[in-house]
Amino acid sequence: MAQIHTNGNSISSLTTPKIHFTKLFINGQFVDSVSGKTFETIDPRTEEKIADIAEGDKDDVDLAVEAARAAFDHGPWPRMSGSERGRIMMKFVDLVEQHLDEIAALDALDVGKVLSQGKAREVPFGISVLRYYAGAADKIYGKTLKLSNQLQGYTLYEPIGVVGHIIPWNFPVGMFLFKVGPSMAAGCTMVVKPAEQSPLSALYCAHLAKLAGVPDGVINVVTGYGTTAGAAISSHMDIDCVSFTGSSEVGRLIMQAAATSNLKSVSLELGGKSPLIVFDDVDVDSAVNLALMGGFANKGEFCVCSSRIFVQEGIYDEFVTKIARNSKGLTVGDPFEPSTVQGPQADKAQYEKVLSYIEHGKRQGATLLTGGNPCREKGYYIEPTIFTDVKDDMLIATDEIFGPVMCVIKFKTIEEAIARANSTRYGLAAGIVTKDLNIANTVSRSIRAGIVWINCYLAFDADCPYGGYKMSGFGREFGMEALYKYLQVKSVVTPVHNSPWL
Ligand code: NAD
Repeated sequence: MAQIHTNGNSISSLTTPKIHFTKLFINGQFVDSVSGKTFETIDPRTEEKIADIAEGDKDDVDLAVEAARAAFDHGPWPRMSGSERGRIMMKFVDLVEQHLDEIAALDALDVGKVLSQGKAREVPFGISVLRYYAGAADKIYGKTLKLSNQLQGYTLYEPIGVVGHIIPWNFPVGMFLFKVGPSMAAGCTMVVKPAEQSPLSALYCAHLAKLAGVPDGVINVVTGYGTTAGAAISSHMDIDCVSFTGSSEVGRLIMQAAATSNLKSVSLELGGKSPLIVFDDVDVDSAVNLALMGGFANKGEFCVCSSRIFVQEGIYDEFVTKIARNSKGLTVGDPFEPSTVQGPQADKAQYEKVLSYIEHGKRQGATLLTGGNPCREKGYYIEPTIFTDVKDDMLIATDEIFGPVMCVIKFKTIEEAIARANSTRYGLAAGIVTKDLNIANTVSRSIRAGIVWINCYLAFDADCPYGGYKMSGFGREFGMEALYKYLQVKSVVTPVHNSPWL
């Protein structure tokens, strides 16, 4: 069994952050919802209430869109120079950095993220992304065009307008910064809906944006449920673009709503079932560690998790023995404890979903190599779980589980590995572990996924575009690609001397 902290009631004595913001953030003010309703956000360690959060729905989305529209049509944000926007964004980044510990703690409390990992990796990465786009705000250029028929022209890249951001709970502050960064740099105004499981850090960041001097109405945050507040965003007639990260099922609903409302542009970052392919020529110990990191990072609640590990037959037995041993050494426990590697799943629904997939795996005949059990009486803790003898059509091999469940699968040839890695409806990420350059090049070109990591995994950078192939969606986060989602191109054409137009 994985190591588990059994410090009994000491959970309540661990450091937890103070909750300052629980209301909607509209037009620069924290306000109650129109209905006056609230919902509870739950601590996944204790299953107890953290706070009552304002429950926004269509009426609140209407008010937030009104504020964002006024800020876009009449406010300074889209009209100021890119360098001025960048300067204000840099101030915002600095404030986020100054409050890094507090923000990481809010996410640890809300969804059980390991505090030390949030402080060392997720929040700093979000900060680096926001800083990248602050730096990009004054680097948005069009082209000059020499046209036929004695015409000349140029292109202008203009902000797309009011953006709706709908985000999931697995990287609450990260997702918030990944989405607002490029859209702010583009000069857009926005309505952000955090996931109902994780509203706290988004509200905190909205407050910091105001302190930094981001004008009222540029960032609005409506907390609430997907079927009400989220659906009101995707079907809103006055939102120009919706950027969604979440499940493929909801992504489909977002596209339908966009299609039947005002044909707003859509970008979708959806689920995955990513393969990590380990070839015979590698150091098995390092490959095992890479697989554990890729598969169980963020308790498997990571769209790019390496949930299918393909291992070549020559090293398969050694790999299986070592991954079982090392997996048992991962410490599952309270996310505020410094020694914890894996916290609780984000909420009850997710916890039950993961356990039901583990049951499917056993029932369909896969071998449970290690883990498979809940860890504590209270809280949504699950052991890191590894299956072997997995057939490609078993549910644990086809479905995104979004939890600490990994399949280890034996293969013989490079062709077989490529075919089986690609036999999924998803195409988000993939990993290759080999010392052979030919294998690395061949496989990376043959895998249908938006990002391929060779001899590394989860290696993200603000400058490196990332997004889906196939049913993992379309549109990219990070890099200049993400900025261009929030811009539209206008061509301006004029005749020159002696043109027949004159
Ligand atoms: P989800 O799709 O249930 O919810 C995501 C967001 O959509 C939440 O804010 C939710 O309130 C909202 N929502 C739900 N129903 C809606 C509706 N009918 N209309 C509008 N909005 C609605 O996903 P989740 O369970 O929160 O997150 C897990 C999923 O997100 C996984 O499938 C995972 O792979 C995916 N994900 C993808 C990426 C990526 O970058 N590709 C990153 C993180 C998570």
